[in-house]
Amino acid sequence: MKVLVLNAGSSSQKSCLYDLTEPLSIDAPSPLWEAQIDWTAQAGKAVLRIKANGKKIEQTIESNDRAIDTQQMLKTLSEGETKVIQHKSEIEVVGHRIVHGGQQYRQSVRIDQSVKDAIADLARFAPLHNPANLQGIEAIEQSLGDVPQVAVFDTAFHSTLPAAASLYPIPYEWYEKGVQRYGFHGISHQYCANRAAQLLKRDLNNLKLVTCHLGNGCSLAAIQNGQSIDTTMGFTPLEGLMMGSRSGSIDPGVVLYLMREGNCSIDELEKLLNKQSGLLGVSGVSSDLRQVINSDTEQAKLAIDTYIHRLRSYIGAMIASLQGVDAIVFTAGVGENSAMIRSRTCEAFHWLGLKIDHAKNQASPVDQDIATTASKVRVLVIHTEEDWAIAQDCWKIIRSNL
Ligand code: ADP
Repeated sequence: MKVLVLNAGSSSQKSCLYDLTEPLSIDAPSPLWEAQIDWTAQAGKAVLRIKANGKKIEQTIESNDRAIDTQQMLKTLSEGETKVIQHKSEIEVVGHRIVHGGQQYRQSVRIDQSVKDAIADLARFAPLHNPANLQGIEAIEQSLGDVPQVAVFDTAFHSTLPAAASLYPIPYEWYEKGVQRYGFHGISHQYCANRAAQLLKRDLNNLKLVTCHLGNGCSLAAIQNGQSIDTTMGFTPLEGLMMGSRSGSIDPGVVLYLMREGNCSIDELEKLLNKQSGLLGVSGVSSDLRQVINSDTEQAKLAIDTYIHRLRSYIGAMIASLQGVDAIVFTAGVGENSAMIRSRTCEAFHWLGLKIDHAKNQASPVDQDIATTASKVRVLVIHTEEDWAIAQDCWKIIRSNL
């Protein structure tokens, strides 16, 4: 079964094609074809990058219209040196990463008009993401007609959060209007939990895990018996850990102060907290951890210290929610690649009997346990496979005719 996965963002769109065969492999296969559309490189144009058949091509499309650019992207599946299928009709299903599924979507669903209406309605909670996700669905409709499409929600995995973890202590009427903690990165946290159980050869239903998704966006999940019981992102992906350019949690009083004393408008505040804060805001260097590490200014050091301080304290919070921990999992760009962040974070948990093996930690581990044999807590580095997780959900939904 050929499954196309689409991750439609506002400034870029990533896509890949898998060929799934029965029985589904446990390990994530490499996609046959990968594509990325970037609308930020040139004004009014799109830069299309394709990887397939061991080749990489780049094209500039004289349009920044998602439907037109998606059509051009899909042509490369069956034409030219990146051709991997004879005809686009071979695609049996398209899976979409949808950022916000609100209270109603607790699992992946086949997309119909009511699902599209709900994604549009939830744009009030995720104005930066859901409209782009919906455009992605419509672009596929225009190019591939009535191919089955599946929505896989980044919030769904956290729909098991108990009320005490999902409520904000503000007047209850706002909770009734949907203002609550939803949590994000659910596709990655769920994938990592399953993979951790495989690697540890343990039953997921008998494990307490803290999964740390540390990319440009960062979040943690406390996973007990395979269910998310706490997480650090909330109503939006702005809450919780310090991130690349997002502040994470700050005293709401700071926001009030900036509005009152700094005359900041809502749009300015949104930009300040989402695009100008985090590692970038403190270091003044970059939102990319590699560049902050390579800079030797005091502010850059402070940015890293603050990042680690917050990461440690939120891991502590997740362990408290779990009332114990069997394993801590590091994933995404920072989690998978920065031995320094992993070792400095883990230092704070020596008192728990957690010890990492420094040689293993330094050796670019992928899907490995980097704790010492004697460690009382396992520490795993897992390469997240969100696209593969989406493809698997598509397979299940199409096979069971849901
Ligand atoms: P996204 O959240 O956009 O999917 P990624 O998961 O790819 O992002 O993570 C991107 C971040 O990973 C980069 O901004 C960079 O800070 C970090 N990163 C990647 N490689 C390394 C590395 N070798 N050392 C430290 N940080 C890294």
